[in-house]
Amino acid sequence: MNNRQWFTVTKINSTLFVISELHHWEKPNMYLIIGEKRAMLIDTGLGVCNLYDKIKEITNLPIIVVITHAHWDHIGSISSFTDIAIHSLDQPSLEVFPLPKSVVINNLIHGNNIFPDSFKLENYQICSKKPTVILNDSDLIDLGNRTLQVIHTPGHSPGHICLYEEKTGYLFTGDLVYEGKLDMFYPTTNPIDFYNSIKKIESLRVSYLFPGHFRFPLEFTLIKEISSAFAEISRIDPGLKKAGVFNFSKFSIHI
Ligand SMILES: [Zn+2]
Ligand SMILES: [Zn+2]
Repeated sequence: MNNRQWFTVTKINSTLFVISELHHWEKPNMYLIIGEKRAMLIDTGLGVCNLYDKIKEITNLPIIVVITHAHWDHIGSISSFTDIAIHSLDQPSLEVFPLPKSVVINNLIHGNNIFPDSFKLENYQICSKKPTVILNDSDLIDLGNRTLQVIHTPGHSPGHICLYEEKTGYLFTGDLVYEGKLDMFYPTTNPIDFYNSIKKIESLRVSYLFPGHFRFPLEFTLIKEISSAFAEISRIDPGLKKAGVFNFSKFSIHI
């Protein structure tokens, strides 16, 4: 596969594009939101292929990259960009990535993947970078006649954020909500925080959800279903302390 085939671009409308890495088992989604003065890129994917060139094919506007959380599969191409925003609590992991390279490589090559011809595993680097903007809950990011709000949603990582556009009702959910295994079993995760974050976004007026992995867009009802699932697990284990994988129809919860 050549480099051009690695990214799949889906045009939702003239100001919203999804860039997906569908040839990888994780199926990461990145989002390019075009304003009048600048564009926002939400996450930078796996870093196995040049994302910057792909983005420049879509827009010439200045780009602010907003990272939902500093996991390897969301920061992969960050070194190609200059203006980077992240929540204060995930800033340390962006500056010094905490996991050994071998762990990342295991995740990268696990599952069924078709990598681009240019990709050489021995050259793969985990990106680290000093952000230019530190975000906190309720911060507003103005792109010129459209504004996205930072919603701090810890649980999957301490500084995980969602991005919400009130005007359209779009909610970009990172790894808080998607149709797959919702992970909160690592040392840096917190299932109680995760549940509280779900309750927090449940109160928003949402038209569509745009998740960090797998199928998009998703209906708001998925948030309700995840919330009910947590309520069900909490009835038996109020502290969400028992490790396990709890399966539901569209997702599972891994504590
Ligand atoms: Zn993650
Ligand atoms: Zn992820």
